[in-house]
Amino acid sequence: MKTDSFKLRHIGPSEKDLQDMLHTVKAESMDQLIYETVPDDILLKNPLQLDEAMSEQEYAAHLLELAAKNSVFKTYIGLGYHEASLPAVIQRNILENPGWYTAYTPYQAEIAQGRLEALLNYQTMICDLTGMELANASLLDESTAAAEAMTMLYAGRTRDQKKSECNKFFVSEEILPQTLSLLKTRAIPLAIELVIGNHETFEFSSEFYGALLQYPGKSGEVFDYAAFVENAHAADIKIAVAADILSLVTLKSPGSFGADVVVGTTQRFGIPLGYGGPHAAYFATREEYKRNIPGRIIGVTQDTNGDRALRMALQTREQHIKRDKATSNICTAQVLLAVMAGMYAVYHGPNGLKYIANKVHTSATILSKTLSKLGFTQLNENFFDTIRITADADKIKTLAEAKQVNFFYPDATTVSIALNEATTVKDLNTIISIFSEASGKEAVVIRDISKEETSISQNLARTTDFLTNEVFNSYHSETELMRYIKKLERKDLSLNHSMIALGSCTMKLNAAAEMLPLSDPQWGNIHPFVPIEQAQGYQELLSKLEDQLTEITGFAGTSLQPNSGAQGEFAGLMVIRAYHESRNDHHRNICLIPSSAHGTNPASAVMAGMKVVVTKATDEGNIDVDDLREKAEKHKDNLAALMVTYPSTHGVYESAIREITSIIHDKGGQVYMDGANMNAQVGLTNPGAIGADVCHLNLHKTFAIPHGGGGPGVGPICVAEQLVPFLPGNPVISTGGDHAITAISAAPWGSSLACIISYGYITMLGADGLKNATEYAILNANYIKERLNGHYSTLYSGERGRAAHEMIVDCRPFKANGIEVTDIAKRLMDYGFHAPTVSFPVAGTVMIEPTESEGKAELDRFCDALISIRKEISEATKDNTNNMLKNAPHTLAMVTADTWDFPYSRTEAAYPLSYIAENKFWPSVRRVDDAYGDRNLICTCEPIEAYMEEA
Ligand SMILES: *Cc1c(COP(=O)(O)O)cnc(C)c1O
Repeated sequence: MKTDSFKLRHIGPSEKDLQDMLHTVKAESMDQLIYETVPDDILLKNPLQLDEAMSEQEYAAHLLELAAKNSVFKTYIGLGYHEASLPAVIQRNILENPGWYTAYTPYQAEIAQGRLEALLNYQTMICDLTGMELANASLLDESTAAAEAMTMLYAGRTRDQKKSECNKFFVSEEILPQTLSLLKTRAIPLAIELVIGNHETFEFSSEFYGALLQYPGKSGEVFDYAAFVENAHAADIKIAVAADILSLVTLKSPGSFGADVVVGTTQRFGIPLGYGGPHAAYFATREEYKRNIPGRIIGVTQDTNGDRALRMALQTREQHIKRDKATSNICTAQVLLAVMAGMYAVYHGPNGLKYIANKVHTSATILSKTLSKLGFTQLNENFFDTIRITADADKIKTLAEAKQVNFFYPDATTVSIALNEATTVKDLNTIISIFSEASGKEAVVIRDISKEETSISQNLARTTDFLTNEVFNSYHSETELMRYIKKLERKDLSLNHSMIALGSCTMKLNAAAEMLPLSDPQWGNIHPFVPIEQAQGYQELLSKLEDQLTEITGFAGTSLQPNSGAQGEFAGLMVIRAYHESRNDHHRNICLIPSSAHGTNPASAVMAGMKVVVTKATDEGNIDVDDLREKAEKHKDNLAALMVTYPSTHGVYESAIREITSIIHDKGGQVYMDGANMNAQVGLTNPGAIGADVCHLNLHKTFAIPHGGGGPGVGPICVAEQLVPFLPGNPVISTGGDHAITAISAAPWGSSLACIISYGYITMLGADGLKNATEYAILNANYIKERLNGHYSTLYSGERGRAAHEMIVDCRPFKANGIEVTDIAKRLMDYGFHAPTVSFPVAGTVMIEPTESEGKAELDRFCDALISIRKEISEATKDNTNNMLKNAPHTLAMVTADTWDFPYSRTEAAYPLSYIAENKFWPSVRRVDDAYGDRNLICTCEPIEAYMEEA
């Protein structure tokens, strides 16, 4: 055994554990367990064709070699991406800290108050800068956020508008090209008609319901939109504005000139460019849209004691939960990046941000003047950071690249230069030297940019305060910020404390060796639109990752573009749609979806313009094949696709899967496989083998990208031969199939920086290690199933009685004792564990997925906790709610209070099992009241006065 093998670090159970666990599950060997679990007709005959696994050391050296193939130029391309300075204190204490990056989405609010507070800060920052009332806790990227604005306003048309032909959406020609491409993708299936034009000359008709403006425009020009917005509103047309977050420090907020929705990216608040992502986009709107807003919102509420507590607001209204009535499918967003951007604002505060924005703006102003002195014409009248110079683009490009500088060249005679936080006086002089060389004149040397200069006219300048809240005015030294971050981190239970057995979410190890390269500027500091030759390291890595994923799924091609699983679903369905259209099957629009599917499936189908037909499940939890056959037959002329999760969301490898996929193919449909459960397939079987045509993968589940508290995600789609030509493209950088659909996300390869993690995972595990990971995931699940046997009943299992990589545990019988599934989830906190998935896909149950990364000792502690809780349940009765389960979780304040009025001991409350003593985790608030917060919706930090009154 090679002891430097990464596999040994990634997989939890030891060789000795293996024997004990096989004994417990009554299997002779791993092979026998797998034989009893996975149907024979889909088992792969041959090992995956992947390179031999690298050790951690080999991988580190390999990545340095690849990184050296990226050329980090000084880049002034702009177009929504700018070099930014990530404060080291945030890099080290958040980005590089598993306490933050391994956290799950904060559904269990009592053990997530830290990231909830960080996100509330983020929302407050967005509301302040945009001048809006309500902001969500991030979206996938600016272009996606703009598309969400377009569709939210579409769904919110007035009744009269819905009755008439009101389906036009005006898009300013100043919009970023990637946003326009994405709007097209999202508009087509909903029959929204995009009208692109000049906002200064455009005249609305009653066919328009909304409009989108870019602020500042892509040219860099800052327009005064006030009159336009006023005219639009007079005609009942709603306005969305895509705004540059840093510019809002100096410019009038879109809220102040009447915008209904404001979107944008927070990348330039300290987040690495990462060749396209991940970055947090923001979405801010008016209170009246609170029920329609996509994504998640964090809100203030109270706990059992009436103390302030935070939680995800309007939780049950998270759009995709509305299934085919949803107007958005957003599930995973960009939480970790939102936390970082919010912290950037906490660290710099209003004065720091003003300093940064002024420096950028002053630099642009001085550069404009200096280049004018050299005889060049600068085209922008009012600008924040971007100037446009009339010059021979080819000539400038050659001179610039020789000095390792990138500008943007909109046409043959224009050079666009977008400055940023990291631009120094030296950089300005390099830019000037390029132009002086081009003009043959002597360079003027800039020495000082400390004196503020502005070129923004008074009517466009911001006059209002922002970030007045205490949190943005308290932590400006590194010591203070470090401690603030730590204070929040301590409130959150993450994988560095205990296992998080989140069914369907695969919370496995996010290895340090996979994460380390993310801190390297050779990866971090590459703009997504640089010439491809400058990103050779990325190109090599991304194309290898595409090949690896193609091999693992048994398909023919992969697109890394989607930024989440749900975005992958939409992408896959749009590719299917394009395929049908290429064959003149324009009418194929029926999508069959089993009743147990994740809410994003029907939501994505509707977004792709399909009609959802739900198929039944049998009592055993499998797809009812007869019902499926009947519905496929009934809709055979219009069948577009089946969406199926495999193994099923019930945690079973349905043995009829090949029959199911062939029924769909016989009727001319394509099969979409939701790949969230891919951790039960890798190396054993694959979507190709079960007969699917396209799947998405959640790289943030199966392929080791950390969950980040709810993002980032990467949701690539892998497709069969016939769908490869339609893989999504990008309007700036050539990528995708020969008949590529328009963009699915803003950047050509989506969140490239995060892709490095999955590349590391696959490269260090290799074919063998990947297969072992799947086997151990199955073993661990079956081990838990066996240990809980006799205490809890497990719903559904395969034909030979085995669970897949996860299982559903029934908690409904405990209602007889007055105990709800939520009580169990909260009580687990007292035992130091995060609850498994609650009430998906079956209400009143939990879904447990241990993953391969947990060893026997941790699995035993988790089972011991559940078994102990089971005993507590049997002692509970319906008419006495004063018990440990109903009162859970117990806080340190409760247990150390001078009075103790509960009918059980403090030890029983807080230390019910012996292992807890040496590793106690204290929930920071008592049980959180969701309904109270929803009735009194507050989604920003309270104003400073609220604190003063209290004091
Ligand atoms: C997680 C999940 C999704 C959605 O993926 P996101 O990355 O959160 O968008 C879809 N289907 C299933 C079954 C899932 O578990």
